[in-house]
Amino acid sequence: MTNASADLGRIVTDIAEEMRARTDRGEVAHYIPELARVDNKHFGLAVVGADGEVACAGDSDMPFSIQSVSKVFTLTLALGKAGDRLWQRVGREPSGSPFNSIVQLERERGIPRNPFINAGAIAVTDLILSGHQPREALGEILSFMRFLADDPDIAIDEAVAASEQRTGFRNAALANYMKSFGVLDNPVEMTLGVYFHQCAIAMSCKQLAMAGRFLAQSGCHPKTGLQVIQAERARRINAVMLTCGHYDGSGEFAYRVGLPGKSGVGGGILAIAPGKASIAVWSPGLDAAGNSHLGRVALEALSKRMNWSIFGA
Ligand code: GLN
Repeated sequence: MTNASADLGRIVTDIAEEMRARTDRGEVAHYIPELARVDNKHFGLAVVGADGEVACAGDSDMPFSIQSVSKVFTLTLALGKAGDRLWQRVGREPSGSPFNSIVQLERERGIPRNPFINAGAIAVTDLILSGHQPREALGEILSFMRFLADDPDIAIDEAVAASEQRTGFRNAALANYMKSFGVLDNPVEMTLGVYFHQCAIAMSCKQLAMAGRFLAQSGCHPKTGLQVIQAERARRINAVMLTCGHYDGSGEFAYRVGLPGKSGVGGGILAIAPGKASIAVWSPGLDAAGNSHLGRVALEALSKRMNWSIFGA
């Protein structure tokens, strides 16, 4: 073990211990009944470094609902399918609004601000679905995750998907609204079905950090050496993660952590230290903007101790 990896291992263990002792844990998401049942005492952290070393601590092997973290991977797939044409149906500016807000859509004629708010992610999923049956589109998303993470065991939590399908009235409103502007090509129920299932993919921190490696490695999948996407595209996805990945908490995340990151209401965050590491953290309690509270605190500590901020030392 090199000194650097010994340091990383110790820092990751220390941070997990510090987080375990904290009492400010935030609130689990209540609007999806299955997520409301998750114990907010969990904490997991996994870091995969550029040379392949893995440092983990806490509940880093326990699968959780990745929710909106899935949007990074569907954006990658949709860009592969449509190229820059994707940007005709979805913007890439921060929204400054909650993840499920509908107000901007009316002013901007059904074009969502970015691919990470719910409306934008639904529009991205609709593009992946075109030309396929929902089952095939989901199979494509799941196979992509399994390939990236190098793990055939990644699966969808059907109970979470069904729970959101039963209660996803707000997403149905967003989708119908976009459909009225001609932004969605497929029947709304089909697009939403795929969207709810992609959000219900269950992964551990370790699996998620493995899946994010290509974004830390200029688009390259380290195990196979395959270029998943061009370096320029990886850089741009990281840019959208930095500016939009935490909804109206994106500024605060950039200010405190200084890394591209994408959060989900399951309490997970994928963060990328370009050229250095892919990081996944999980703590189910959320802050007011719907981002993992201790996840952000832990990433702030990690980025500071490893000197990983993209904005300099
Ligand atoms: N499935 C969730 C929803 O659509 C995802 C939101 C999130 O993770 N921020 O509401």
